Amino acid sequence: MVNDKKKFDLYLANAEIVTPHERYKGDVGVRNEKIVAILPSGTEVTAEKTLDLTGKCLLPGIWHTHCHFRDPGQTHKENFETGSRAAAAGGITMAIDMTNNTPPPAEPETFLAKKESAESKSYIDFGLYGAGLHPEQVQNLAKLGAIGIKVFNTRHPMDAYPYIPSLAVTDHGILYEIYEEVAKTGLVCAVHHDDSDWTRTLVQRDYIQKGKVSAEDYIEAYDRGYMYGHGMVSGLASSLYLAKIAGVRLYVLHVGVMPEMAYDYIQFAKSKGQTVYSELEACSFLIDRAMVEKIKTRTYLFAHNVDRAYEYLKYDTDTLVLEHAPHTLEEITNGLTNNFNAPLGVIGVQEFLPLMLNEVNKGNISLERLLYLTTESPARIFGQYPQKGAIAIGSDADFTVVDMNQEKILTDKEELSKSGWTAFDGVKVKGVPTHTIVRGTVVYENGEVKGKAGYGQMVKGTAYQP
Ligand SMILES: [Zn+2]
Repeated sequence: MVNDKKKFDLYLANAEIVTPHERYKGDVGVRNEKIVAILPSGTEVTAEKTLDLTGKCLLPGIWHTHCHFRDPGQTHKENFETGSRAAAAGGITMAIDMTNNTPPPAEPETFLAKKESAESKSYIDFGLYGAGLHPEQVQNLAKLGAIGIKVFNTRHPMDAYPYIPSLAVTDHGILYEIYEEVAKTGLVCAVHHDDSDWTRTLVQRDYIQKGKVSAEDYIEAYDRGYMYGHGMVSGLASSLYLAKIAGVRLYVLHVGVMPEMAYDYIQFAKSKGQTVYSELEACSFLIDRAMVEKIKTRTYLFAHNVDRAYEYLKYDTDTLVLEHAPHTLEEITNGLTNNFNAPLGVIGVQEFLPLMLNEVNKGNISLERLLYLTTESPARIFGQYPQKGAIAIGSDADFTVVDMNQEKILTDKEELSKSGWTAFDGVKVKGVPTHTIVRGTVVYENGEVKGKAGYGQMVKGTAYQP
């Protein structure tokens, strides 16, 4: 007889369990959305559903902390349903969504409307940034459950980004006031840094006013540190100082696609005891100039120094993403006439994990380090550990199952994002997610999304007040 303690809703059998800290053979029992047992393989149990995971690795559920699901406002290229479905197919159990929406979630009404809409559409769990725009609204957004506050400290020279120019906070006095308010909440302030005046002046002078707007010109401007460039590092440098005196936990976005000094400034601040986190963009080592010359506007984010990025990946960064910033093919093709008008970013939520498992197979990062950067570390930074980000008794039953030996070719055809294409079309990878399990429910299995839109729940930030 199997006793009640060995009755489960879901039983994950015969896997190799891998966490940031250890590997072992074992089985995991799930009841009421939680991990309730970790048992030796072969233990006799009863379960409503058992998955035999022989030959596979059972990982904590993977987080993706940089998603633009475009909902509300730009739902012609993505919405919360299609974006979270692509994430589920990519082995992601928890996504954090960005704020450049119309209307942006910068006030209680718009934040709550976005939350309600996302809860009705998401396949996976998610956190929502509040938009850092009005210092006096920061506390209100935190109380409603914002997982952090996101600031666009940038305004693109052609206003091609962040698409909602009114979201730009380029006044450092207001930026500082936002930091003061976020510091009181204990949340992180996540910032896309820039020195917009510098960027605009130099890009206009050397490129746009001279009519140098071809793809080749854009790639040159990026390589010289004009686009996604020195302006971002300059903005970062002053922001680090302001964040230090405000006492805010600063979360630096887009590390790796800025010129290299960004790494040094962040390391210096850390060495002085400042609480600062870096989110490394995987384009910084996955995409080189030769690839960008081929794919052009599919993404203009590419490596400045691949070796340095790998070193930062292995030893220094706090989290890792492949930004998910979808656009339609038409939008990026139009960008080819004036490449400084091309919308920025890369479509990455579905490709992120397979590409990174491929990096593990190539020996460029250990699976344990990858898991630290995509499970435990973000869960700690965003205040959710160990409810999420761990395989432990009492934790949410979020898992990603992977087959490290399965090979596949990434294609536009399989892209589930509404945008329907990927910069990695035709790229072969070894290592793929086979199952995505969110709080004990299998939402993706072997090529098929099985979950329901609306199953995903909003994970509330630590300043939430019921
Ligand atoms: Zn972004």
